[in-house]
Amino acid sequence: MRPKHNKKLRILITAGPTREYIDPVRYISNDSSGQMGFALARAAAHLGFRVDLIAGPVALPTPEGAIRIDVASTLEMRREVMRLAPRADVIVMAAAVSDWRPARFSRKKIKRSKTGLPPPSPPYKGGEMPHAIPLIENPDILLELGKRKKPNQILIGFALETDDLEKNARGKLARKNCDWIVANPACAIGARVSRALLISRSGKKIALPLLPKEDLAIVILSHILGV
Ligand code: C5P
Repeated sequence: MRPKHNKKLRILITAGPTREYIDPVRYISNDSSGQMGFALARAAAHLGFRVDLIAGPVALPTPEGAIRIDVASTLEMRREVMRLAPRADVIVMAAAVSDWRPARFSRKKIKRSKTGLPPPSPPYKGGEMPHAIPLIENPDILLELGKRKKPNQILIGFALETDDLEKNARGKLARKNCDWIVANPACAIGARVSRALLISRSGKKIALPLLPKEDLAIVILSHILGV
């Protein structure tokens, strides 16, 4: 990938989990550590890209040269992605975005006995019942980006699967209109190392070995961007 008129190319990367708050102190989230997205941001800055890094709540230092925007929920991540996507030449959605959020947010910390939910049905007796939290679907940010993609924009999605990795990844590549999908086994989440299968819409398939995520990031970008 070569920049036009010697202008630096811009890459937008999302990283980490999202948090979907139930009340001011409780939330639904996942085990994503943000390491993969941050490693990609570091590698891209090193390669000379201008980097916008949208990070969910993670305890990682900002890679040198990256502009970091911290978000918590999927809706916040979506707002920032949509704001920055139009200026991006490359977009990498490495974040483990929560597919659902609680249907209601309680401004006050919910008391053990006052959930406002109907009483539990058998076989549970009062007290034992784990209260149900109604969930609603979050927007699929990558799907939206795929629909709005500009002609020269490269869109890269991630797929983390417990089963049928390649089949599911290929489905996502097509459904979300990505140029590439990086497929990881589920054990990659939160881990320091990972293996990846890169699949392109033009039919390329590259299996990468188990590597520290720092190294994997460099190999992924060099394959995808031809740098
Ligand atoms: O369909 P699935 O959620 O497994 O797809 C994974 C890809 O979609 C990742 O690149 C992830 O960042 C993105 N995604 C998203 N918005 C969601 C869920 C996933 O952008 N609500």
